[in-house]
Amino acid sequence: MTQPAEVALAMDWGGTWSRIAVADGQGEILWQSRRLNDPASDRERLIGDSEDLIRQAVEWCGERAIAGLGIAVGGPVDAPTGALMEPNLPALNGVSLPALWAPLLGRPVYVGNDANLAALGEFRYGAGLAARRQGNAPRTLVYVTVSTGIGGGVIEQERMFLGAHGQAVEVGHMVIDRSSAAPRCRCGRGGCLESLASGTAIARIARLRAAEPGAGDSPLAGPEPAQITSERVFEAAGQGDPLALDIVNGAVQALAVGFTNILHLYNPDLLALGGGVTSGLISLGLLPQINALMLESAMTEGHRDIRLEPSRLGDAAGMLGAASLVWDGAGRGGG
Ligand SMILES: [Zn+2]
Repeated sequence: MTQPAEVALAMDWGGTWSRIAVADGQGEILWQSRRLNDPASDRERLIGDSEDLIRQAVEWCGERAIAGLGIAVGGPVDAPTGALMEPNLPALNGVSLPALWAPLLGRPVYVGNDANLAALGEFRYGAGLAARRQGNAPRTLVYVTVSTGIGGGVIEQERMFLGAHGQAVEVGHMVIDRSSAAPRCRCGRGGCLESLASGTAIARIARLRAAEPGAGDSPLAGPEPAQITSERVFEAAGQGDPLALDIVNGAVQALAVGFTNILHLYNPDLLALGGGVTSGLISLGLLPQINALMLESAMTEGHRDIRLEPSRLGDAAGMLGAASLVWDGAGRGGG
């Protein structure tokens, strides 16, 4: 009888959901579960709820050997201690999950920032793997998620680029528009990429524009502007509504500027795009336009040697990146 293959436990501890998976060494998710976080919960409750998820996963594993647990979290992570810094669940600030759970599990525990780990997941098991299979192994991969917010990560020589304090690659807070008319960003500044092209920004811009007299007979100019979401804007754009198309075009232009900056900063050969807004852009067939605009402004041939690809792993990218930390087994998960 052969022993069942060793598995990794992987968590994605987001602001809304806590998700857990059991993954094998090939990046296949064998089992997964999730529960809603109550942001009003205190620290003990949040940790207790996640320990329940871990217990379920361990039970599912049965006879399978568990190599360790990798955890993706929103916000930066202190590299030496694995402590969470300013996480999206404020009650967890300062908590070191490796210190808490490694003794409980009897296996190594790694923690990293969710966007950086999504980049690692895409490199190993997603867009990076697809490129390797086509004979185009990427040297430098940049992953950008364009969703309610905009975040990203860089994989250089198979390793996450973290920065001195684990806070590198805040692509959403690249300033694109310095004019006085630029929208405010949640970071407190104005004109960041996130304030121009995220799902939140697209919905906010649409609500403002739909209330203007010029909105005319746009389907966005209904009686309830508060109901407008970015999905609704993409839907209206797909039906050819000029207002929605103009709003989407604003996001396209901002993203193209941001991506050209990324080419010049990191010189990637693969730029993988994830998130709900990316799905909307793909549904409208806009990735080639973004690609063309980005290349138009690139400085040299070396910067233009880049492929823009949709992410392959969807919302499992962060968990599979966390599983990669376990397989690496060397504590690369600083931030
Ligand atoms: Zn910002």
